Amino acid sequence: MPFNIQKIRNDFPILSRKVNGYPLVYLDNAATSQKPQQVIDCIVDYYSNYNANIHRGVHTLSQEATDAYEVARHKIQTHFNAKEAYEIIFTAGTTHGINLVANGFSEILEKGDEIIVSAMEHHSNIVPWQMLCEKTGAILKVIPMNEEGSLVIEEYEKLLSNKVKLVFVNHISNALGTINPIAEIIEKAHKVGAAALIDGAQSCSHIKPDLQKLDVDFYVTSAHKMCGPTGVGILYMKEKWGNRLPPYQGGGEMIAEVTFEKTTYAGLPHKFEAGTPNICGGIAFGAAIDYLNAIGFEAIEKHENELLKYATEQLLEIEGLKIYGTGPDKTSVVSFNIEGIHPYDIGTIVDKLGIAVRTGHHCAQPIMDFYKIPGTVRASFAFYNTLEEVDALVNAVKKAKMMLS
Ligand SMILES: *Cc1c(COP(=O)(O)O)cnc(C)c1O
Repeated sequence: MPFNIQKIRNDFPILSRKVNGYPLVYLDNAATSQKPQQVIDCIVDYYSNYNANIHRGVHTLSQEATDAYEVARHKIQTHFNAKEAYEIIFTAGTTHGINLVANGFSEILEKGDEIIVSAMEHHSNIVPWQMLCEKTGAILKVIPMNEEGSLVIEEYEKLLSNKVKLVFVNHISNALGTINPIAEIIEKAHKVGAAALIDGAQSCSHIKPDLQKLDVDFYVTSAHKMCGPTGVGILYMKEKWGNRLPPYQGGGEMIAEVTFEKTTYAGLPHKFEAGTPNICGGIAFGAAIDYLNAIGFEAIEKHENELLKYATEQLLEIEGLKIYGTGPDKTSVVSFNIEGIHPYDIGTIVDKLGIAVRTGHHCAQPIMDFYKIPGTVRASFAFYNTLEEVDALVNAVKKAKMMLS
């Protein structure tokens, strides 16, 4: 299918609305993506035609819902190239998946064990590990980053020893757009016997990962960053970890047998899926993956790289504008500030012109501390954005600068 931007934009009803009298220019895709009609239709179809609880019912609706939910799990398995469908665990999202793993490791880690995270993690990748360290006496170590916003791999190598049990990094930083060399990071973790967990929340809309090839132990992501609904995501875990980690929550669905003396747990993935899940969300996640694959990740990447290149060039024409995250390997996120102007003020003025950007620390305060800034303005582009929208952003930022300086 040729990449037809107008046809793609027509799939997203929200893109034709106006904000403050101007056509919406949605550049907050790193926070959440918009949803195509195909995904919206899937949600309406579920609630209109076959809403029922899954796995337990013998009636037709329950079987239809169960089938659709499990078909979605298979789609996700195929997309991420997991070996088995039961290695895909439905979660409420990335944060939930990380907490599930952290909780499991609270029974595995011992005092003095080490966990490595990177300097450019989202708060949801820092706080659960800090809580885990408090509980177990394990020690958190951090891979530093350099001025251009890339991880310093030589420093990572120095941190590695047989005390390290878990290495955790995001594939792409949501605040900077840096693409981290995860294959290398995973391989080095395995050399010292540590497990590797990758946060794909920011990368999954840009890059299709091959989990078996990466040989990663755990991988988490959220559907809402890749055109699916909020409140649903996946945790991939290798079968051996699935068998080793204890369940996170007790309840229905996760048991094999319950008596008051003893409960035995269900096998994968149900062991980690207590309670009625977000059934519709899981099914719609499958629809979102179908949608993205129909466009094709190669075409998506090519278009987004054009947007990134053009936006970077145009923004840098503005005097006093500095971009954070200038590494060689990056995706379509541009985080910037203008000398002497607070990012919040820029965000507020461009919103008056219909442009949605994010301002603040982007849930990554350590990065802001590194650069000694309160935050940035972040424009993050998706495949449905256009070069004309980049122009609108640049003009609006120029206008904001004029008004504020
Ligand atoms: C969005 C994001 C998260 C958190 O995802 P939730 O859906 O809020 O759980 C974690 N890490 C990165 C890199 C993100 O971009």
